Amino acid sequence: MRIVVLAGGIGGARFLRGLKQAVPDADITVIGNTGDDIHLFGLKICPDLDTVMYTLGGGIDEEQGWGRTDETFHLKEELAAYGVGPEWFGLGDRDFATHIVRTQMLGAGFPLSAVTEALCDRWQPGVRLIPMTDDRVETHVAVTLPDSGSATGAGERKAVHFQEYWVRLRASVPAEAVVPVGAEQAKPAPGVLEAIAEADVILFPPSNPVVSVGTILAVPGIREAIADAGVPVIGLSPIVGDAPVRGMADKVLAAVGVESTAPAVAEHYGSGLLDGWLVDTVDAGCVERVEAAGIRCRAVPLMMTDVDAAARMAREALTLAEEVRAV
Ligand code: GDP
Ligand code: CA
Repeated sequence: MRIVVLAGGIGGARFLRGLKQAVPDADITVIGNTGDDIHLFGLKICPDLDTVMYTLGGGIDEEQGWGRTDETFHLKEELAAYGVGPEWFGLGDRDFATHIVRTQMLGAGFPLSAVTEALCDRWQPGVRLIPMTDDRVETHVAVTLPDSGSATGAGERKAVHFQEYWVRLRASVPAEAVVPVGAEQAKPAPGVLEAIAEADVILFPPSNPVVSVGTILAVPGIREAIADAGVPVIGLSPIVGDAPVRGMADKVLAAVGVESTAPAVAEHYGSGLLDGWLVDTVDAGCVERVEAAGIRCRAVPLMMTDVDAAARMAREALTLAEEVRAV
């Protein structure tokens, strides 16, 4: 069975670990979000690709969900001693090595897809991990920063890099707009459209619908290829009981006018794209609403408390795919 998964960071990676356990013989291609990528200290950092690679390769900091196990931060401390920041972005010594290798290879002229393949030679994630594009895409968020000095308290409106919004500001101010800068001109990376065309099933894991899956779908050609693939497209809700399980997805959903509920996210993707949608059992009451939107829906436990739980979710997604295929 050939499975294509559109993945962000933590939610995508943990689901993929379950999927691998559920169907060990499947041929899995992961199309990774690169809208979160950022250049820091002269290095190219791809947080979502690395989270998938480290999680599936056994190098992830389990508790945190990102970054390396047994990490130390000497390099960051030394940089800070020179006054070189930003200090708000956590980069450990082990993690730095990945970004150095990546930046060196990019500098030598290799596209990001080839670099990712080379990095995966070490980590052996057991899936084929392809960035959504080799072109530069950077998600920016429009915000109005509070200004205690002004009469109204409202300050300057500006666009900040997604990481600055998410990590430095911790989504503490409303996201007024979310723009994947460069996406319109980007081309899908080699292998992306081919994998979609050859897939037996396409899965949207419980990743952020706006800044992870949404950004991948913003690369021209990818959304169309998925809609035209003629195979079941099944999603799993990252929203459980009207709130994101982790993180601040509600903030970026509000920016695109979508309420933070499992059915609203399904409607946002729409029946033109999604054939099936899994919601958590606490959201069983919304199954009818999703089905009324033309999307087959089931309520099953959706908390990835461990790998077995994620594997059960993956099996439910594949079962729903077979139901969709049968009609
Ligand atoms: P990021 O790039 O690290 O933010 O990760 P993703 O975009 O892949 O996933 C983030 C989303 O995963 C968040 O919106 C969370 O609500 C969701 N998520 C995290 N853990 C779980 C879980 O156990 N169950 C479900 N249903 N969603 C989860
Ligand atoms: Ca991310």
